[in-house]
Amino acid sequence: MSKDEIDRRAVLAGTTALTAAALLPPTASAQTTAPAGSPALPARGEFVVRGAHVLSMDPSIGDFESGDVHVRDGVIVGIGLSVQAPGATAIDGKGTICMPGFVDTHWHHWTTFLRSVMRADDPKKTYFPVTFALGVHYTPEDSYRAVRLGLAEALSAGVTTTHNWAHNVRSPAHADAEIKAMRDSGLRGRFAYGPAQGMPNTQPMDFADIARVKRDIGKDQMLTLGVNSRNIDGSNASRGAINADMAKKEWSAARELGLPITLHTNGSASIQLLKDADLLGPDVQLVHPLNTNAADWELLAKHGVHYSTSPLGEAGRTGEMQFIEMMQAGVKVSMSIDNVTAERCDCFACMHMMQTINKHRTGGKFALTTKKLVEVATIGGAEDLGFADITGSLTPGKRADLILVRTTAPHMGDIGDPYDALVQLAQPSDIELVAVDGRILHRNRQFTALEYGKLVADGAQSVTALKAKAKWS
Ligand SMILES: [Zn+2]
Repeated sequence: MSKDEIDRRAVLAGTTALTAAALLPPTASAQTTAPAGSPALPARGEFVVRGAHVLSMDPSIGDFESGDVHVRDGVIVGIGLSVQAPGATAIDGKGTICMPGFVDTHWHHWTTFLRSVMRADDPKKTYFPVTFALGVHYTPEDSYRAVRLGLAEALSAGVTTTHNWAHNVRSPAHADAEIKAMRDSGLRGRFAYGPAQGMPNTQPMDFADIARVKRDIGKDQMLTLGVNSRNIDGSNASRGAINADMAKKEWSAARELGLPITLHTNGSASIQLLKDADLLGPDVQLVHPLNTNAADWELLAKHGVHYSTSPLGEAGRTGEMQFIEMMQAGVKVSMSIDNVTAERCDCFACMHMMQTINKHRTGGKFALTTKKLVEVATIGGAEDLGFADITGSLTPGKRADLILVRTTAPHMGDIGDPYDALVQLAQPSDIELVAVDGRILHRNRQFTALEYGKLVADGAQSVTALKAKAKWS
């Protein structure tokens, strides 16, 4: 489509040329810093959302039933009842909620396209057997394609920051491929460098390469680095079962590099192992608050450890989901998607599941309000990942990671409290606009900077090759 055609359509639609700006190739000055060969991301530009129900998630700012949010060059520069923004392209926010994008805190993006191989009703074809059998054959290109597909789903569902929990880093080239996928997609996030599927438990991770990646990333507001550790309690051998000595060695190597550490857990055993090895600390994120006890919660709170809960997946696991008890004990809890092979990326459903679990377990006695749930899904995640200074709330000076959620669909029309609507009623298909770092990456249910059909086709090609290598039938 030519620029003239885009402008003509914008005029016909009674809109300004913002959509046009988002669709046009960026100017030289607005080029992304992504590696050579990457597709260009849209320019950041300047826009103002007008007349939206604004939920800032910043207590010092509050909410506006009808308010404006002004963004310039990737930064939130104004928010209020009515913001002066001469020269900014106006976006009509009426009938939408304007809020910070969701922050996911644990997601195995490399598994995404394996959903085409999985069957929920066949134990041999569920998440673990499939990801392990095919994961050991991944090329760097496979990693790139799978991560891009996962990030596309994230964007379309309003996730603007993600924790890419990469536990199939088979070589330095695989790490680079996943990082390139993150940069090419335009989301903010942490890359958690991990082991490879099937790696011997006696073999340490490649910390020389982790140090190299740290140098390569440098200081970057879009991308940070962490380390994911193999399981240390032996509860899931396909995800590793290292002993305490190996854990001490690897965790101290991560800490020498100043990198945060994340670990899957499945109950008290792993927490007690970490305690005995003196490894707990505020740089630790644990995942899946299941099967723990009051002594664990006290210990975790004392050491400033935080926990990521993946409500949709955990609801199907054995044992008790205990994020409520952890929150009551003072442990910081955030929310995560985990994977989009056996689950789906639906932050509204995740919040709703947390609310349901609270009702089920406490009869609603714990005050897990709908506003608190939206906090957990936004600023809470940003705090977990160390991004709270730059995202997680609509605060002037922070980077512009925001979404518009339409509230006029048949399941949403005439909403009451906006937080209740987000937790009880909203669906990912209500997300009308997604901006990350001031770039509009998804609008009117369309991607502005990627060819989704090509990502799907590339992924299918990878899966065919992986199945052949694995002799999978
Ligand atoms: Zn996980």
